[in-house]
Amino acid sequence: MELCNLCPRKCNADRQNEFGYCREKAIRVARVSLHRWEEPPISGERGSGTIFFSGCNLKCVYCQNYGISRGKGKEITPSRLADIFKRLEDAGAHNINLVTPTHFTDGIIQAVEIYKPSLPIVYNCGGYESVETLERLRGIADVFLPDFKYADNALARKYSNCSDYFEVCSQAIAKMRELQPIDVFDNGIMQKGMIIRHLVLPNSLENTKKVLDKISVTVSCDAYVSLMGQYVPFGRSLEYPELARPLLPLEYKIAVSYAEKAGFSNAFVQDLSSASQEYIPDFDESPIEV
Ligand code: SF4
Repeated sequence: MELCNLCPRKCNADRQNEFGYCREKAIRVARVSLHRWEEPPISGERGSGTIFFSGCNLKCVYCQNYGISRGKGKEITPSRLADIFKRLEDAGAHNINLVTPTHFTDGIIQAVEIYKPSLPIVYNCGGYESVETLERLRGIADVFLPDFKYADNALARKYSNCSDYFEVCSQAIAKMRELQPIDVFDNGIMQKGMIIRHLVLPNSLENTKKVLDKISVTVSCDAYVSLMGQYVPFGRSLEYPELARPLLPLEYKIAVSYAEKAGFSNAFVQDLSSASQEYIPDFDESPIEV
């Protein structure tokens, strides 16, 4: 019997018979699509081949994909997942984008052993990752797309139920850089490398500044960074008065200006017209069959 310690929660859970923090057993997928709202080197013109996995090892109170992080989805086998890789290739995707994959890493590795896609594999995760599990992705994950959500562990504890996010994410990002040390593009699409995402939260600019400071030290100011300004209250946000409104344009402007002054030369910034729930995919249907 193998006990699950795939992520830093280290539940030591027998996932065949009991739930760990993520409350997931076999692979489950909520949605498969060609997604056009990722960063330009991920979405390109034809779209990113996104596979939205169900469940999460963080479960942030403001999760912008709340329904699927809390369980929506269909159980599939590794061979079915390999089949989905092929269908995304056939549909013209620029890459295979594994969204919130951490708790299914075993099944994903099995799927890649069955069928290794000819496209870059994007590991699109919440940043709360174990270095040991990341090492198992050597030769599998071509592009890392981690969040770096918090430098302030008090916020991490309050919103994502983890008290060591900052240290864990810092180590995870250093490991990802070791695994993919050079950012490589082909016709504008990232083939190898890392893009670090940070969602700017309302009333949390100090947190954002410290995250940027840490990236500049742990990676460098040449790191590709995506500063996301599309926060809207979602999930349980309304239980937290400071999270109960969209990000203000002024807050986002200050975050962008801080990144510019710190010397980040490869930052992606957003047009805040994307700060609307209408840009959040409809998880009640999957354009490509799961
Ligand atoms: S993947 Fe799930 S069960 Fe395994 S350690 Fe993480 S939260 Fe716990």
